[in-house]
Amino acid sequence: MIPFNQLKPLHDLIADEINVALLLAADSGWYILGPEVEAFEREFAAYHGVSHAVGVANGTDAIELALRAGGIGAGDEVITVSHTALATVAAIEATGAVPVLADIEPETFTLCPDAARAAITRRTRAIVAVHLYGGAADMDSLLALAQAHDLLLIEDCAQAHGAQYQERKVGTIGQLGAFSFYPTKNMGAYGDGGAVITNDDALADKLRKLRNYGQSSRYRHQSRGTNSRLDELQAAVLRVKLAYLDELNGRRRGIAALYEANLTGVRKPSARAGCQHVYHLYVIRDAQRDQLMRELAERGIGTLIHYPVPVHLQESHRDLGLGEGSLPQTERAAREILSLPLYIGLSDDDALRVCEAIAQLRGAP
Ligand SMILES: *Cc1c(COP(=O)(O)O)cnc(C)c1O
Repeated sequence: MIPFNQLKPLHDLIADEINVALLLAADSGWYILGPEVEAFEREFAAYHGVSHAVGVANGTDAIELALRAGGIGAGDEVITVSHTALATVAAIEATGAVPVLADIEPETFTLCPDAARAAITRRTRAIVAVHLYGGAADMDSLLALAQAHDLLLIEDCAQAHGAQYQERKVGTIGQLGAFSFYPTKNMGAYGDGGAVITNDDALADKLRKLRNYGQSSRYRHQSRGTNSRLDELQAAVLRVKLAYLDELNGRRRGIAALYEANLTGVRKPSARAGCQHVYHLYVIRDAQRDQLMRELAERGIGTLIHYPVPVHLQESHRDLGLGEGSLPQTERAAREILSLPLYIGLSDDDALRVCEAIAQLRGAP
């Protein structure tokens, strides 16, 4: 049996450090927005070479609060993709803004700059670029577009911790970068968590108030906010995880390289030239995807589809008014994509077994 994912092998690798960090945080008597969160925010900002990181409760809130800090709200339109975790779109809607969903580039599964340009209206105020599967979106084009139209550019980095667009880490190119630390992400907490990074002092200040119901000093509220705080136990875990992030991403890239070298009979993912993909997911394409998924399952190999139904075709989002056929590249991807097993603890042998099974099913050359 080769499961699609498991988290226990990574925990076992670093359990000594994690357990000590958790015990120290528990013993400290301080549980929300304390010294562990402050230290983590400093270290996460330093890792990215930016001035500020602000810990929040989860990745959805990170995107929502980034937008709200940037002044986005009711009456505004925000351009993003339909081919993403529904959370990206839910976060935009939580601000009161309207999500405008544009098609993807078929090679990289990220927002197509031409489609984004075509989606701009008088009401457009922001673009949320999603670095899906661990690969960077076309940031040069999106940044130029955002600058030309005076739009806020936010990066959804929930699947791309440590990934690079050319020489720059994702999350540092737009005004704000939003991260999730959901346990299965490349850098996961032991519960929910999130963060926003920025170089802008005023945006960081707004974020710090927004996450703590607008509080500027104790029981003084300058603006309306919400409760979206990172807790000390998660921050303690994240400090340990951050120290291993590059090494663990390196292992993910190693597994992806094995797949790249040994897979036959299916379309393999292509990383954007000059960028560092961190393979949150390794996503192949196949015209008979459902059959392939079933036959791999029969051979004990777990796979998943990220995501089988694009946001615009979800029952919850019919009112966006985008019917079948409106985003052809997105819809085609949803029919063909399949995510192969890729996690810390997956052995080279198991990755090769996945390749062998696919070669048998799809005919080795
Ligand atoms: C996981 C994820 C989110 C949401 O993060 P949560 O911590 O689950 O709220 C947002 N965008 C993308 C692309 C994600 O993968």
